[in-house]
Amino acid sequence: PAPVSAGSAPVSAGLAARASQVIVGGVNSPVRDFGSVGGTPRFFVKGRGAWVTCADGHDYVDLVAAWGPALLGHAHPDVIAAVQQAAAQGLGFGASHPLEAELAEEITARVPHAERLRFVSTGTEATMTAIRIARAATGRPLIVKFAGHYHGHSDGLLAAAGSGLATLGLPGSAGVTPETAGQTIVLPYNDLGALEEAFASHGDQIATVITEAAACNMGVVPPAAGFTAALTELCHRHGALVISDEVLTGFRSGPAGYWGVEQAATPDLVTFGKVVGGGLPLAAVGGRASLMELLAPMGPVYQGGTLSGNPVAVAAGLATLRGADDAAYARLAAASEQVQAMVSAALTEAGVAHVVQTAGTLFSVFFGRGEVSAAGAGAGAAGEPTLGTAAPVLDYATAQAQHTDRYRAFFTAMLENGVSLPPSPFEAWFVTAAHDEAALAHIRAALPAAAAAAAAV
Ligand code: PMP
Repeated sequence: PAPVSAGSAPVSAGLAARASQVIVGGVNSPVRDFGSVGGTPRFFVKGRGAWVTCADGHDYVDLVAAWGPALLGHAHPDVIAAVQQAAAQGLGFGASHPLEAELAEEITARVPHAERLRFVSTGTEATMTAIRIARAATGRPLIVKFAGHYHGHSDGLLAAAGSGLATLGLPGSAGVTPETAGQTIVLPYNDLGALEEAFASHGDQIATVITEAAACNMGVVPPAAGFTAALTELCHRHGALVISDEVLTGFRSGPAGYWGVEQAATPDLVTFGKVVGGGLPLAAVGGRASLMELLAPMGPVYQGGTLSGNPVAVAAGLATLRGADDAAYARLAAASEQVQAMVSAALTEAGVAHVVQTAGTLFSVFFGRGEVSAAGAGAGAAGEPTLGTAAPVLDYATAQAQHTDRYRAFFTAMLENGVSLPPSPFEAWFVTAAHDEAALAHIRAALPAAAAAAAAV
């Protein structure tokens, strides 16, 4: 199909103006305001499969997928039916519900080290709880996180974080006390030497190292070959716990998250979000039974929530995971590879230096500043071949060196031609199992103009 111009969005613009009178910045999560890409933030009113529709009536092929949850595509009939059925029985009771254990069983079957689970409503709560468990289990105060990794917006995890903080170029957040910030050691990612030094000087004080299973909040930066295994060994040698944050990668990089893709080492605690709730507010913390049983009511670590395990959210998550069978993952992988290949080909054709990086079916495209290298990018951090013509991105410093203005031009041209990309260069791109030939053809048609726009910067 010929691309339809979706460049003008006066209805969305009016809605943004109205919202900004009553909602801070007009948005309920910072990156939605299009601050780093410019233009009118789209208000989406409908989604079907690979497509979303804005308030102006333009259709876009979606490469955001609600930041991950829409694994099967928007408004998948089975997920909608499950939600409608659950909702019709009542929206929640603040009591246990039969579906909760079914969802927990589904998760444990895929990720056996999540021996016990606790459901919460957001990824932020999941990582916050995991850290509280780790501190209680070890009796130690310090946590280690990596620059460019994002684990939600709890106080101790905002230092040098990716996602919205990377987009806004913030080193951390105002309102976090120096005492709290001082309990977080921030290290460069994929740098084992830095981790060894931290353990050498603070080893008996470090409760846990929290790491995204593959970093996806500064663009996609997979762990270097051997990094996760070495990190795990180092933690355990020093009596510290590993928290693998799979909020973004869980059930999306592959059926068992990035853990299943990498098969490197088993963490002590793991966090899930996004796909696990199928698009409704649901997340989880899981891990070894002996650690998880530190949580109330079995143990002394308090954690609870009015909305935790909400039956409608659990129904959405369960229907999504049950629909995410081998065939769905095969479609997801094929769509992901095809989008990567066509984007890389268009950028190469236009002479735009770039590198495509992957974490299972997740990927992102970094726009380079340097010259196009005929040799290509060679091997990525994890050692797999990488598409592109720029040097691989290994950590936050190299992610920050990307050509954000080129991304902005590319994003804008894609949007105008009916393709919705993440409104920041510091985010992963998401396909769904519903990205069929028609959706891929629509992306392909939009690419030459967008690649040319990036080349013109
Ligand atoms: N951890 C990771 C790896 C994430 O990607 C996110 C959200 N993008 C979070 C935690 C926080 O999740 P939430 O936004 O649901 O609080």
